[in-house]
Amino acid sequence: MKTETKQFKAEIGRMLDLVVNSLYSKKEIFLRELLSNASDAIDRAKYLGLVDKEILADSPDWKIQISADREKKTLTISDNGYGMDAEDLENNLGTIASSGTKKFMEAAAAKDGSNLPELIGKFGVGFYAAFMVADKVTVVSKKRGEEAAFSWESDGIGSYTVSDATRDGFGTSITLHLRDGQDDYLNEWRIRDLVKSYSDFIAYPIFFEEVGKKEEPKKDEKEGEKKEPEPPKPLNTMVALWKRPKKDVKKEEYDEFYKHLTHDFDEPLETIPFSGEGQVEFKALLFIPKAAGMELYMPQTKHGLSLYVRNVFIGNDFDLLLPDYLRFVKGVVDSSDLPLNISREMLQDDQVISKIKSAVTSKILSTLEDMKKKESYDTFYKVFGRILKEGVHTDYVNADRIKKLLKYPSAQSAAGKMIFLEDYVKKMPQDQKDIYYLCAEKEEDARRAPQLEQAEKHGLDVLFFVDPVDEWLVDSFREFEGKKLVDIARGDVQFGSETEQKAEKEANEKAAADLKPFLEKVKEQLKEHVADVRVSTRLAESPCCLVASENALSPAMIRMMRAMKQNVPEEKRILEVNATHPLVEKAKGLDGQAFTDAVELLFDQALVAEGSPVPDPARFSKLLTALMMK
Ligand code: ADP
Repeated sequence: MKTETKQFKAEIGRMLDLVVNSLYSKKEIFLRELLSNASDAIDRAKYLGLVDKEILADSPDWKIQISADREKKTLTISDNGYGMDAEDLENNLGTIASSGTKKFMEAAAAKDGSNLPELIGKFGVGFYAAFMVADKVTVVSKKRGEEAAFSWESDGIGSYTVSDATRDGFGTSITLHLRDGQDDYLNEWRIRDLVKSYSDFIAYPIFFEEVGKKEEPKKDEKEGEKKEPEPPKPLNTMVALWKRPKKDVKKEEYDEFYKHLTHDFDEPLETIPFSGEGQVEFKALLFIPKAAGMELYMPQTKHGLSLYVRNVFIGNDFDLLLPDYLRFVKGVVDSSDLPLNISREMLQDDQVISKIKSAVTSKILSTLEDMKKKESYDTFYKVFGRILKEGVHTDYVNADRIKKLLKYPSAQSAAGKMIFLEDYVKKMPQDQKDIYYLCAEKEEDARRAPQLEQAEKHGLDVLFFVDPVDEWLVDSFREFEGKKLVDIARGDVQFGSETEQKAEKEANEKAAADLKPFLEKVKEQLKEHVADVRVSTRLAESPCCLVASENALSPAMIRMMRAMKQNVPEEKRILEVNATHPLVEKAKGLDGQAFTDAVELLFDQALVAEGSPVPDPARFSKLLTALMMK
């Protein structure tokens, strides 16, 4: 193969420029990124070696070597991991999933430079951090099981080359040609500090050497008398963090491990170290992130925990260890109760795995239960609440626990504040049997809904279901602490004590009888739009509103389904009128065109009140103007 020069995709060129020129705050993280990649490559080689012994024929002594060359001003990070061939170099270092790049660009454009490091981590372009300190990067790699080595080189601006190369053993060496002013990274003390603070838990020894440095003779060493040189000491302690007792680990160490694991630049919201004892022995270190990574919303990406069996990395994204609705949780599970050569297929119906999964699930739920009183819970809930809710539907065993973790805005709580279902239940007056809710697209719409009026008059709180998922969830919800969930915008609802309800019912029946001819005329006129017209039990100030029958979809749901291009059959709703409203009184007395116009206006304003479009906006505004003129 001759040297080939290839262009980065245009977007990547721009991104590299951003990375290099905007990240002044923390250039030093480049080392962590490269060490993490080296450690990943060894993990991978070890794992694949379990099945294919051939690739470990050289019986490697796993290690990562950092070499500084003062003369050439280069820093080289070498590993004896899995390595890359020409195609891998091109795929892994020359292209980045373009959707990821695009998202990155959008996010970067929206933020100022100071947030860029965080972004880079989220979008998995860690390798490119090398260009913050280097104006040229050379990668030489020989993939395990293959004969040829290749080199990749780039100045990080517009193009890169891939060519034939030679390399002694398998693995990868990444040489950074340091930019002016970055000589600091050639010092052993500086590298040692960085390894200590960012990469101490890496499971393979990291060594430092200075190329061409003369060994100074030891004081007690006599001329001519050669002692065996001491074996070099690794810079890192290499202890798997999840194996260390919680009390011995500093928060910073957990944070750094989290960053290493997830490539997130932010600290986790919650760190959960724990061990399973009894039926299955395992250690786990779990994290709840502060923000949702892009991957959470990409259906094709895998989620899950990293699995280790007796310290050997088996792989990440083990979704079998975590229910789907907790897929935002990151972390590591290490068990000695599994066979080392376990494959994903074998795991599928492994008893140990399902026991670990249920222990992990329970631990995460109890962590969330503990967080409920803390401020951090709202941060969590805003980002991941929607995903958590899926569990009510899918996790039969834990549904009750999950319900207790859900929060909703409500009519009586301040705008933007949410309450737990149990808080709602605690506040319920004795004679309130059901939990009331109202579906809307937005909290503001819900607060304005006429259907709320009677409930408010009775001093009853109503939960607002403003997330499309909520409505879909009600089906699986059925009840909470023995209380039914009732939509106040559908079917028959009555508020207040039994005597109040009885009195109201009687008044209603009487009003309905008085209004009968009027209601019939209205029904006849609106028959294309509504299934029925009747006297309302839910209105106080508004003249009328539209309600669905018991089993119908709500307007919010219908709008959502239509937006998703689903075919939703037209279902007529019921127009409810407020029998005591002066407007209704007035309309009753009209006839001819004046009556027709008034009925049309009443219907239109019921639509406007719930945020639905009116059938003929131009005509609506004409009628309204005419009315105001009068
Ligand atoms: P990430 O590590 O988040 O995937 P990077 O940009 O850091 O993103 O690396 C891109 C890819 O390049 C890695 O996923 C890996 O496949 C490959 N790679 C990087 N460094 C090495 C290495 N030292 N050995 C083998 N493969 C590597």
